[in-house]
Amino acid sequence: MESAIVNIAYLIASVLFILGLKGLAHPKTSVRGNLLGTIGMLIAVLVTLLDRHILSYEIILIGILAGSAIGVFLAIKTPMTGMPQMVALLNGFGGGASTLVAGAALVEAILLTTEIDIQFTVATAASGIIGAVTFWGSLVAFGKLQGLITEEPVLFKGQHLVNALLLFFALLLGIWLVKEPSLAWIYWGVVAFSSILGITLVLPIGGADMPVVICLLNSYSGIAAAATGFVLNNNVLIISGSLVGASGVILSNLMCKSMNRSLTNVLFGGVGAVNTKASSEDIYTGKVKTSSPEEVAMLLEAVRRVVIVPGYGMAVSQAQFAIRDLFLLLESKGVTVEFAIHPVAGRMPGHMNVLLAEANIPYERLKEMDEVNPTFEQTDVAIVIGANDVVNPIAREDSASPIAGMPILDVDKARTVVVIKRSLSPGFAGIPNSLFAADNTLMLFGDGKKMVLDLIAALKAG
Ligand code: NDP
Repeated sequence: MESAIVNIAYLIASVLFILGLKGLAHPKTSVRGNLLGTIGMLIAVLVTLLDRHILSYEIILIGILAGSAIGVFLAIKTPMTGMPQMVALLNGFGGGASTLVAGAALVEAILLTTEIDIQFTVATAASGIIGAVTFWGSLVAFGKLQGLITEEPVLFKGQHLVNALLLFFALLLGIWLVKEPSLAWIYWGVVAFSSILGITLVLPIGGADMPVVICLLNSYSGIAAAATGFVLNNNVLIISGSLVGASGVILSNLMCKSMNRSLTNVLFGGVGAVNTKASSEDIYTGKVKTSSPEEVAMLLEAVRRVVIVPGYGMAVSQAQFAIRDLFLLLESKGVTVEFAIHPVAGRMPGHMNVLLAEANIPYERLKEMDEVNPTFEQTDVAIVIGANDVVNPIAREDSASPIAGMPILDVDKARTVVVIKRSLSPGFAGIPNSLFAADNTLMLFGDGKKMVLDLIAALKAG
């Protein structure tokens, strides 16, 4: 294929990626954005396959079929709540693929005795280091979220020194590879040191910080792909890798801001090892008030403004459709209903937005934390469904708590708070919640969806 045609096709694909990313920034345009990105990827893949003078497409076809079968199986089998682990695995495979492709390109160049230039070797070494860190780091993140290894930060003495030494040796071998590109084993040495580094970097990070780590590893997988783009001289891989790299860093920063943490603190702080001062007995004993759907329905008869706060439990119980019915019923009674969305509610960025959009809740009713927090004082009832950490006042009150300083939704400032969950069990951060013992809080214990349906029935009966 003419190189000009290839490059024009790659340019079109890159523009589609950028338009796709722009579209993904807003729920209204996200479906179109997704489609544009997909078309861009299709163009990029087809043009690359046609351009590379491939002698036999059979192995590629077998790879595509096997990969697609595994992908479809995992996508169908993984519950919505398991998405972060799934994303971790996908990032990891991206990094692993970059490492293998760069290694294969090096071995091929050595076998064919092609002249190897400095761009090739520098990019190969970079791909080996970043790709291997991404692969193994992502596997550890997956293991932590899947409960295969402890979620607690695994801290050991001198860990920063060990990590620095591992990086030093990986870089040293990388420089050697640039000087001696005909020795393929040096590359695998780079990969070996980087693989251990990937594990030791992520092990000391607590489970609660895994979402940020996963975003960052996503960014690394993009940078590794961009480096492999330089190895293969493939412009679209360089551009798409850079886009993934940049957007991953931006998202990681946004998530850190929503948790009031710095990226350095997440990566090197070992947070999660500290325990909050207060035990659950101190907080709950004699102070928790239990309610019933009928009692809450009576309360809702005389209100003007209700704010619904969804969390992970709404996703688990798949209560979004019942919530939509409750929203419509309250609106039909003249009540103003809004939804308060915390940036890290649920188990992945945008988790609540996706579920509420699935239930066709008008997007303008979803309010972000900064917008909704000043309104809680004028709110008659805040209904918290399956949210826990993101409404925990301990974040403001206890500086020793693992979530200290994390901005929360100030539901405790509403006149009455109704919390729907099954028990007093903690949320993701594993700490008690002083909201459940507050004077203005009523606990409605039960499965999220069932409780909302019972509430609707009680409202209709009343
Ligand atoms: P939490 O994890 O704090 O709490 C969820 C609550 O849901 C639990 O306390 C649980 O209580 C309740 N629950 C579970 N199943 C049901 C059910 N069937 N019906 C009703 N309730 C149920 O959730 P939040 O959304 O408040 O906070 C998110 C947490 O997850 C934060 O700590 C955040 O840092 C972390 N995180 C966020 C990610 C993101 O990107 N959004 C990714 C990964 C982690 P009970 O068992 O008593 O029912």
